[in-house]
Amino acid sequence: MEVIKEKKKMREWSRAQRKAGESVALVPTMGFLHAGHLSLITEAKQRSTKVVVSIYVNPTQFAPGEDLSTYPRDLEGDLHKLKSLDVDVVFNPYDLYAHNGPEETPDVAKEAGSKKRNLPERWSTAAEQEEKKSQVADLQDSLEENLKPNGGMAVANMHDENKGRHETWIRVERLEKPLCGQNRPIFFRGVVTVVAKLFNIVEPDVAVFGKKDYQQWRVLCRMAQDLDFAVEIIGCPLLREEDGLAMSSRNVRLSDTERQQALSISRSLKEIEALVKMGEVDANLLVKCIIEKITAAGGKVDYAKIVEQDTLREVDKIKVPVVAAVAAHFGSVRLIDNVELQPPS
Ligand code: AMP
Repeated sequence: MEVIKEKKKMREWSRAQRKAGESVALVPTMGFLHAGHLSLITEAKQRSTKVVVSIYVNPTQFAPGEDLSTYPRDLEGDLHKLKSLDVDVVFNPYDLYAHNGPEETPDVAKEAGSKKRNLPERWSTAAEQEEKKSQVADLQDSLEENLKPNGGMAVANMHDENKGRHETWIRVERLEKPLCGQNRPIFFRGVVTVVAKLFNIVEPDVAVFGKKDYQQWRVLCRMAQDLDFAVEIIGCPLLREEDGLAMSSRNVRLSDTERQQALSISRSLKEIEALVKMGEVDANLLVKCIIEKITAAGGKVDYAKIVEQDTLREVDKIKVPVVAAVAAHFGSVRLIDNVELQPPS
């Protein structure tokens, strides 16, 4: 298994493989891998002869105040797991948004310990620190600007000719708005942009995503279609722990009590799934069930919605295939989960 850090080297590897008649699958991740991630790799192996797994905690999908600095990381452990799965390449890039200067490894320890700012200091030499600090502060201000109702216009502020900052963003205008997009207005902009960058660097034939992040999968399918990426997008089933909790890198940050409380999400989804099978089609009633159960357990519901599977439009009655999607906070940890539902026959 090869670990590649440079964009150029990654692209060269991929092109050489394709020239040799191989096909390449990409599994994008933010690391701290669990069985859910590994199931995507198994699927990728079925669909191509070579598999690239990317590990990159993408800073642009985190808003100020979100958990970029505390996002769990364990590169060594991840590499160990990937090696045993016989992955061909781990793409663990340097800062994907830096155009000028040497590509350097972000200092993860410094990021995790950084209390002052949510954005990491990812430059190494002391001489550059002050300048870089001001760049980070500007970026932070710009991201904050984007959280305002008219956010997005401020993106232009992120550009500075001299400093070579990133200024190009992809937005999937309608599909990014509901569900997670409501309270995380820059999240999908960051996700879609980084995935497009990964597609351009790795040039995969196939890319594999989990339906655990249901809206993300839909948004990325739309982006690939709208922008004519020659990449087949695959969506894989959501994997759960034995007790039903949806597997997530963030689960490790739950206390024992919070973890028990968090089971209310999967239990509420299971309950409404049974109700639908028995003929219940009233979406508002089912959503009420979910909210009540999670709230009673001590969770704070961000949203609970029943939406059409392909359009993500909210429904009143379940007449077409839908997905019940939930986001809830337990302590400082925000979890998402969902279940696909068919209309009762
Ligand atoms: P992340 O590292 O959280 O960005 O996730 C990387 C990929 O793994 C995404 O496509 C996720 O949807 C997928 N994934 C995360 N958790 C699960 C899960 N429990 N089951 C299936 N796929 C998952």
